[in-house]
Amino acid sequence: MADTPALDYKHQLDRTAAPSWPEEMDMDLVRDCIHCGLCLPKCPTFRALGHEGDSPRGRMWQIKEASLGMVAFDDPRFRTHVYQCFNCRACETACPSGVQFGAVMELARARTPPQNRRDRLVRAILLRGLLPHPARLRAAGTLYRAAEALGLPAALRASRAWRAMPLGKFAAFPPPGDRSPREAPLPQVTPARGERRARVGLLLGCIQDQMFHGTNRRTALALSANGCEVVAPRDQVCCGALPSHAGEARLAARLAGSTVSAFERAQVEAVVVNAAGCGSNMKEYDLQLRQDPTSRATGEAFSRRVRDATEFLDGLGLRPPPRAIRLRVTYQDPCHLLHGQRISRPPRNLLRTIPGLELVELAESDWCCGSAGVYNLTHPEIAEEALGWKVDRILESGAQVVATANPGCIVQIAMGLQRAGSRIPVVHVLDLLGWAYGDPGRPPQAIRRALA
Ligand code: SF4
Ligand code: SF4
Repeated sequence: MADTPALDYKHQLDRTAAPSWPEEMDMDLVRDCIHCGLCLPKCPTFRALGHEGDSPRGRMWQIKEASLGMVAFDDPRFRTHVYQCFNCRACETACPSGVQFGAVMELARARTPPQNRRDRLVRAILLRGLLPHPARLRAAGTLYRAAEALGLPAALRASRAWRAMPLGKFAAFPPPGDRSPREAPLPQVTPARGERRARVGLLLGCIQDQMFHGTNRRTALALSANGCEVVAPRDQVCCGALPSHAGEARLAARLAGSTVSAFERAQVEAVVVNAAGCGSNMKEYDLQLRQDPTSRATGEAFSRRVRDATEFLDGLGLRPPPRAIRLRVTYQDPCHLLHGQRISRPPRNLLRTIPGLELVELAESDWCCGSAGVYNLTHPEIAEEALGWKVDRILESGAQVVATANPGCIVQIAMGLQRAGSRIPVVHVLDLLGWAYGDPGRPPQAIRRALA
């Protein structure tokens, strides 16, 4: 294995690695749909709105018509149905014809102007203004943590004006609280403990590294405890998942190119990702980079090395963690892990290896919680309905903790539980695993008391 490569600290986007996006619809993907309707009972927007136009079959039909020029891509009704989709991909799991609905939807959105003003604002502030700029992200993260350390006034957090703002959903979110404003970034290389079994890269993520730095630290700890040398390239950027999800295709392709470059330089056997939406996106870089044959081949080779953190550790064979967590835990499947990556057993297997932990299944765990990238910011009313179903199922489960594997789901479900007056903590599977391996961070009180 090569030595750790010298990495630069420029945090620049690699614009040369940014091919243009395929803006034409791939009609082969559209024709896969035979309009059987078997996906309808699994579609959350069809359940919430009860309209064929907001079902997978209805959307596939409309996208086919738009691609054939029978309806304009900027037709208001078409736009509404396209942007009301969670892009949760539950219809893909249900579909007997193998329709790649997520790919079709992202291609359709790339040609469809955003539906409403709130959507345009979220794109301008969050997707284009913040995510692609690491320095701005770090500044925003520092401000966020400093405000939390000072105790941001409860009145502001509860005020209607604040909640109406595009980032207002974070107002109801209890902060992770395990990174001080001055905490150093994750080391560029974390050595393997015991016999070395692999050298892996770790995606830190954009929002993930600012709001869930502790989860990244615990992921690195769990990997290290299992014999992995963990490389966290300093020049990595946002992987492009949120822009891709929202149809910001050119930006997504540029960020994909930069991400590939950063990890190629790190020379790792696998790229480990602890955010389901990011992993799903990175496993499909070949689609995003397909306009140029060379980039597509590079994207394909890269995607083959991407692993969700739970998938990677379960495949490696876990060294049993030493600490017990005596709690009843339920697991919520993130859509982009279950439907996007078809991963359901590995996170459950990891949870079962933690001594003392009792895993209880969650009814409708395969249904979207309403987070769906930036959907809960652009379409809060429909997102709230899906969140309401999720909170009801969690409260019925009798669980003391909810574990999941995606930061967006953690924020969304924590917000729903908090509003329902519940104190059930929502954490990442790798958080629980990291605490069981002895991470020194401060877990939520319910978990702290149960750690033995
Ligand atoms: S997406 Fe699949 S399940 Fe749904 S209507 Fe089309 S072919 Fe049938
Ligand atoms: S992606 Fe989700 S919300 Fe969109 S059509 Fe498919 S099941 Fe429905």
